[in-house]
Amino acid sequence: MARIVVTGGAGFLGSHLCDALLARGDEVVCLDNLATGSTHNIEHLFGRSDFTFVEHDVSTYVWVPGPVDTVMHLASPASPIDFERIPIQILKVGGLGTHNTLGLAKAKGARFFLSSTSEVYGDPQVHPQPETYWGNVNPIGPRGVYDEAKRFAEAMTMAYHRHHGLDVRIVRIFNTYGPRMRPDDGRAVSNFIVAALRGEPITIYGDGSQTRSFTYVDDEIRGFLALLDSDVTTPTNIGNPDEYTIRELAEMVIEVTGSTSEITTHPLPVDDPMQRKPDITKARELLGWEPTVHVRDGIARTAEHFAKLLADR
Ligand code: NAD
Ligand code: UDP
Repeated sequence: MARIVVTGGAGFLGSHLCDALLARGDEVVCLDNLATGSTHNIEHLFGRSDFTFVEHDVSTYVWVPGPVDTVMHLASPASPIDFERIPIQILKVGGLGTHNTLGLAKAKGARFFLSSTSEVYGDPQVHPQPETYWGNVNPIGPRGVYDEAKRFAEAMTMAYHRHHGLDVRIVRIFNTYGPRMRPDDGRAVSNFIVAALRGEPITIYGDGSQTRSFTYVDDEIRGFLALLDSDVTTPTNIGNPDEYTIRELAEMVIEVTGSTSEITTHPLPVDDPMQRKPDITKARELLGWEPTVHVRDGIARTAEHFAKLLADR
């Protein structure tokens, strides 16, 4: 049994990670300032002796009393609507938050796990994207606050690894969806499912020919644990390589939910990547990991979650 600090543990991915760690017998200390997360995601864990929640902004000094085996740094807003709403907080948690949590890991002699993103590849000119691709990011555009914060976080993590000998893991996450996403999160999967369930128009940005590869949350978290338990210290893509255009995604959501929604269009946001698909050769070969949930099944499970949420409102 390990004692694991999870930053961002009250968020979508973080709360599923807390569940998975507790299920395998680890003890979890969750740090979250609830900027985009919610105690609803973790309230089922309150009262357990192996789970502690501390409301804290990790962009300020971080300290956790007692032994710590692993620090998993997931804290960061992740939706494009947040890039415009709270850009400085995003830069701070990717920069200062990563520095503080690396400092905690170093002080405790703990392993450090960074949640990075496919956004480090920007609008990629290499397709699909292997980990060796350095990316094509506009540093000063509206998405730069997130993309560059994550690139800095990776650079800082590798510097701690090389300079201080810190044991590190870096996961590059590709668009992940599932229960506990916020209905007003602004991302394509949640927007489309909520609109479909309400019978409202589904809005695709641009002509919908841009592509993404969508990973169901259970697959993603299984990938996190495989990477955490491995000895791979360099960045590793964890994502479902099945690639769809955004129009195909919208059509699939309508079909799976049996909705009567129409599809409408809206101008494409600035710097919206035109294509994205992980090369997962490294995860397959070194971790024995690959996704198992087809996007249709994942949409159905996520729609069930949103249907309950909307009914309760
Ligand atoms: P989320 O917004 O649901 O979770 C992020 C959590 O971090 C929230 O609970 C939020 O309150 C917390 N947080 C933000 N700033 C904080 C701070 N300064 N101090 C403490 N807590 C803070 O988003 P998510 O989708 O669960 O993303 C989790 C991580 O995964 C993020 O690092 C994100 O960049 C990364 N990621 C997610 C995706 C995806 O598709 N979901 C893709 C790539 C990367
Ligand atoms: N998108 C869309 N309609 C929406 C929300 C998003 O067409 O209501 C598009 C968006 O422009 C992007 C894709 O869907 O091309 C995926 O967007 P998301 O915000 O989910 O993730 P990211 O752009 O960060 O990959």
